[in-house]
Amino acid sequence: MKGDPNKLGFSTRAVHAGQPPDPTTGSVAVPIYATSTYVADELGKHKGFEYARVQNPTRTALEENVAALEGGRSGHAFASGMASISAILTLIKAGDHVVASRNVYGGTYRLFTQILERYDLSFSWVDTTDLANIEAAMTDRTRLVFLETPTNPMMEVTDIAGAVEIARDRGALTVVDNTFMSPYFQRPIEHGADVVMHSATKFLNGHSDALGGVLVAAHEKQSEWFAFVQKSAGAVLGPFDSFLVLRGIKTLPVRMERHERSGRAIAAFLAGHDKVTRVLYPGLPDHPGHALHQRQSSGFGALISFDLGSHESAKTFLDALQVMSLAESLGGVETLISQPATMTHASVPPEKRAELGITDGLVRASIGLEDEADLIEDLEQALARI
Ligand SMILES: *Cc1c(COP(=O)(O)O)cnc(C)c1O
Repeated sequence: MKGDPNKLGFSTRAVHAGQPPDPTTGSVAVPIYATSTYVADELGKHKGFEYARVQNPTRTALEENVAALEGGRSGHAFASGMASISAILTLIKAGDHVVASRNVYGGTYRLFTQILERYDLSFSWVDTTDLANIEAAMTDRTRLVFLETPTNPMMEVTDIAGAVEIARDRGALTVVDNTFMSPYFQRPIEHGADVVMHSATKFLNGHSDALGGVLVAAHEKQSEWFAFVQKSAGAVLGPFDSFLVLRGIKTLPVRMERHERSGRAIAAFLAGHDKVTRVLYPGLPDHPGHALHQRQSSGFGALISFDLGSHESAKTFLDALQVMSLAESLGGVETLISQPATMTHASVPPEKRAELGITDGLVRASIGLEDEADLIEDLEQALARI
């Protein structure tokens, strides 16, 4: 296309933002710039590219694209979602405090408690579905409010704008891990968030064939800092993986529509099944965060957690599945299903899991793009084995 895609709709931006045709050849796809360094025109004069840790055109295209989709100022791509979360935590220093959603991704909990607490950072794990709990946890040293909404795997929904207001009053920044929703359904910067994070491994890439993380900063100060961290700490995303994520994003809108359509149908099926004791999906009208989620997002996504009552039932069910794949991760074209207690959340201590409601019978599915009828038939036959 000609002109500025940033003035146009979401799907147009997904396809075009950050990726004008290659200036040398007109190539419509951004090439994979497999290079570690760039030749200077003359001493002190270069084309904006010096060394690949600092800049790579394939990575830049991805970064500009995700920033355009989230409505932020800049994007910063890292080697994994966890590398990007590590970069966020360099915004604070020893003695500082973070208020975090109690039910974040297991790897985030592990990073904060097992690595960062050693550097004298402290964390309060809070049920952020109630803003009063955030307010109560804030201290003079709180610098970050770290949210996931909906959370993983309990699907707890937090009021982003409400949390931002509390954080701002105390001079703290609000960070949202937006991996579950993708910018197609939810754009936290529109609700005042300062930093948005994605595990690009999930819906952004969407094809279960790359690992990556992206930060989007809303303000200049964090933009500059994250670029500095990329250059200085170096956990940047390589050009091949940048290419794959960029390729995945072009179909993000159509994939998310389909993921969600099947997600809703399967949540309704599970809610009506007598072997299922509980279904957690923000799209169900009886979900406690249903109305709030609907206000701040335009879709409910494809992540569904449900309880089968016991570890034995969950094992019987998971082992019997034929179409759905027993695997960690989410957001791919294939339906992935897991038992959080022994897989994604194994690093959360058992008593804390119990407190959060992550029972041994809990199963989490990320609904893929297979035929809805095949998925429901698969669930039906596996549930019948319990
Ligand atoms: C997967 C995931 C992460 C971590 O991302 P990686 O790319 O695996 O490092 C963080 N947050 C959420 C919500 C995730 O699902």
